[in-house]
Amino acid sequence: MKYYSTNGKADRATLQEAVVKGLAGDKGLFMPEVIKHLPDAVFEEIQDLSFQEIAYRVADAFFGEDVPADTLKQIVCDTLNFDCPVVKVTDRIYSLELFHGPTLAFKDVGARFMARLLGYFIRQEGDRQVNVLVATSGDTGSAVANGFLGVEGIHVYVLYPKGKVSAIQECQFTTLGQNITALEIDGVFDDCQALVKNAFMDEELNRHMKLTSANSINVARFLPQAFYYFYAYAQMKKLGKADQLVVCVPSGNFGNITAGLFGKVMGLPIKRFIAANNANDIFYNYLQTGNYNPRPSVQTIANAMDVGDPSNFARIYDLYKGSHEAIAAEISGTTYTDRQIAETVKDCDEKNGYLLDPHGACGFRAMEEGLREGEYGVFLETAHPAKFQSTVEHIIGRPVSIPEKLAAFMKGEKKSIPMSKDFADFKAFLMKE
Ligand SMILES: *Cc1c(COP(=O)(O)O)cnc(C)c1O
Repeated sequence: MKYYSTNGKADRATLQEAVVKGLAGDKGLFMPEVIKHLPDAVFEEIQDLSFQEIAYRVADAFFGEDVPADTLKQIVCDTLNFDCPVVKVTDRIYSLELFHGPTLAFKDVGARFMARLLGYFIRQEGDRQVNVLVATSGDTGSAVANGFLGVEGIHVYVLYPKGKVSAIQECQFTTLGQNITALEIDGVFDDCQALVKNAFMDEELNRHMKLTSANSINVARFLPQAFYYFYAYAQMKKLGKADQLVVCVPSGNFGNITAGLFGKVMGLPIKRFIAANNANDIFYNYLQTGNYNPRPSVQTIANAMDVGDPSNFARIYDLYKGSHEAIAAEISGTTYTDRQIAETVKDCDEKNGYLLDPHGACGFRAMEEGLREGEYGVFLETAHPAKFQSTVEHIIGRPVSIPEKLAAFMKGEKKSIPMSKDFADFKAFLMKE
């Protein structure tokens, strides 16, 4: 399968090129040339298949031409060593819990898959070590570091701003050791990102070591997110509640929801989608007006959705050939203030005994407000509430229990290398690696 760029000015890439490059030469996002429809038989028996079996069929449609079947099966099984159950919140609203992976957020799925696929390509080429550089404001670093942990032939450097990530987030990438190095940058997130960008552009450094990114726009991180939409459908079908299924996705960069839209193109019978925004309502406004006006993000309590120019908008636009009408027919939008998010966490906890995280709360609220007669809803619970411990505790007025997995990270020994935000220092460090 070849991948084209949403900007239309770059050569078509192979899967391997698209995964290693991340972004196309013309700065566009890679799109698969064909999105294959799954055989009808799959949907007939889907309720009886395991998560891994379902995911393999979806993975085969995307990657089967480029990766041998045994390898792909192995990658899928290794990636999905945890469940993504749908859990009842009200009679008609279910939570798709995507927080049972190693870092308790949905990004684990894509990060784990990408690490394994990249590892396969490196072994194929007998290539020298590949070095992944990732700048993080918190969550991406932990998903990528844990996804790549122990994968042979790959070393990961996580750059994070000193004092700007939460203690829980920090220990998820500074306590791992092995092939993960954490660099604590004396600056803000933008400085970390600038260091990474400069590194990719520095010829001497690129001769010295092979560098790549693990950005969320990478096709190997983005496409595997389709897996759990199919699995959610299967679980709802088993319950007899899949006929008029509405799926709501708390959205920031819009990668997650785009993977769901791809699922629908592959034949997944989802009636419609809702994109839930926090106060960063760029997509919401696009749906209302047809005008896409990116602007600087504002900080909210659902901070993984604080995005002012969602990168995957380009993919949605491309998928629907630029038709605002087609996009608005498939997706509706909502936007919530911090006050509304907090109120939803509190209400849902009190009324339904289900503790939401601030991101999932946007999804749940959109369902409560937007579900029509006869419809059933699944919203994506994108992270465990304990990842936002202080925010959630402040809202509900009692302690949140910390899952064992998260507590284990906090017991580890923090190891990171302090570094200035000066590129010369960063480069000198890498030249010695
Ligand atoms: C990344 C993230 C989101 C936003 O997902 P996108 O694919 O960027 O739209 C939502 N919730 C949580 C918890 C996240 O980490």
